[in-house]
Amino acid sequence: MAKGAYSILKKKLVDKVQSWFDESGGDGAGGWIDLSRGINTPYSPNGPPPGYAFNWPHPGIDLPYIYEPVYSTISGTAHTKEMPGGFGHYIQVHGGDLDVIYGHLSKWLVHEGQRVHPGTKLGISGNTGASTGPYLHYEMHQNGRPINPIKWLKAHPGKKGGKSSAPREVSAWRPEVMQALRLAGLPANSAYANAWLRQINTESSGNPSATGPGSSEGTPRGLVQVKPGTFNAYKLPGHGNVLNGLDNLIAGMRYAKARYGGRMLSTIGVGGPYANGGMVTKHQIAEIGEGNKPEMVVPLTRRNRAIQLIEQAMSYVGMNKGKTEVTVNNDNSTIERLLQQNISLNAQNNNLTQTLINVVQNLPVGIDGDSLNKHFNKKNGNSISLEAYSKGGSIV
Ligand SMILES: [Zn+2]
Repeated sequence: MAKGAYSILKKKLVDKVQSWFDESGGDGAGGWIDLSRGINTPYSPNGPPPGYAFNWPHPGIDLPYIYEPVYSTISGTAHTKEMPGGFGHYIQVHGGDLDVIYGHLSKWLVHEGQRVHPGTKLGISGNTGASTGPYLHYEMHQNGRPINPIKWLKAHPGKKGGKSSAPREVSAWRPEVMQALRLAGLPANSAYANAWLRQINTESSGNPSATGPGSSEGTPRGLVQVKPGTFNAYKLPGHGNVLNGLDNLIAGMRYAKARYGGRMLSTIGVGGPYANGGMVTKHQIAEIGEGNKPEMVVPLTRRNRAIQLIEQAMSYVGMNKGKTEVTVNNDNSTIERLLQQNISLNAQNNNLTQTLINVVQNLPVGIDGDSLNKHFNKKNGNSISLEAYSKGGSIV
C-alpha cells in the first residue's frame, strides 16, 4: 500500500475510535476530582443548602482547590467560557449525555473545542466570577439536568480499578509517571519523565488496557507492555493491577532499573519496545538473546532477507503459513500479514482489526484520501464494540 494512503488510513482509524469514545461519553474516571479534601459547599439542586448564607440552589459542589490544576473526569470536547457574574472563567466539557462544569478558574490550559480525556489538565482553579475566594465549583449535568456529582464520581472510579485505568493522551500520564519514578526509586526529573512518556507512546499510545502479541512467556499488557512474569516479579505491594497505568509503570520501571541501571535513558524512550523486540533506528550496542531465549534481528533495508526472516519467525512462533499469501513483490504483504497476526493473537481486537483488513484488502489501486475515507466509513458500520478496542503494539 502507498505510504500516504497508509497514514491517512491510520489517522482515520484513530479519529474514528476517538469519536466512539466521545459519543459514548468515554469511560469516566471520578478519581480526577479529589473528594478527600472535603466539600466547602454541598450539592443542593432544589434550593439553598441548609445553613449557608445564600438564597439560591447550588447544583454542584465547591471544593478547596487553591490555584491548583483541575483535571477532566470524562472524555469529550472542552469549551472555554465566560460568565462574569457567575462561574467566571470556566470550562464546560461535553461528552455523550454528560456536561461537566469547572467554575471560577484562574487559567484555561485547553483551547475551545479541544478533545479531552479523564486526566487531561483543563486549567488552574481560581477566584473568577461570583466567588468569595479561590476554590473549584464542579457541576455535572446528565441529559441537561443536574446530577449529584459525588454519587457519579464514586460510581465511576474508572475501568478496572481507579483513575489510572482509562485511555488518555500520552502527555496526560505525566502525574503517574512522576509518582512511579519516585516509587521505583528513580530520579523524578524531566529527562526520566519524558523518556517514559515516549516509551508509553511506543508501547500503548496511552491505553492502559493495551494487549500485545503473546510469546512463550505470556502476553505483554498495559501501559508499557509488561509481561506477566516480569509484572509479578517487579510489582509493588498494593499495585498489583497490570491494567492500571500506575501499577504497570511501577513494575516496568523497576524491571528497567534492574536490567539497565544507569544506562536506562539510552534504552527507554528511544523508539523501541524495551524487552519485547521492536525497531532499532540508531547505532547501538544491544543485549540480544537475553537468558538464551531466541530473538531475531531483521534488516529492514534488505527486503528479501527481511521477508525470509519474518517467515522463519512466524513459523517459529507457530503462525499458520497456509492461511496467508505472501507475494514478495507486493507492498501490502507484510502489513497484511502483521494485521492478520494481530487478529489471531488478540481476540479483543477482532472487530476493529477486521474492519481495517477489509479496507486494506479492498482498496483499489491509486486511491486518494477522500475515497479512502468514504470506503472506510462504509465498511465501518456501527457494530464495533468500544469495549473491545485495544491498540496493542505498533501496527495501528
Ligand atoms: Zn459552587
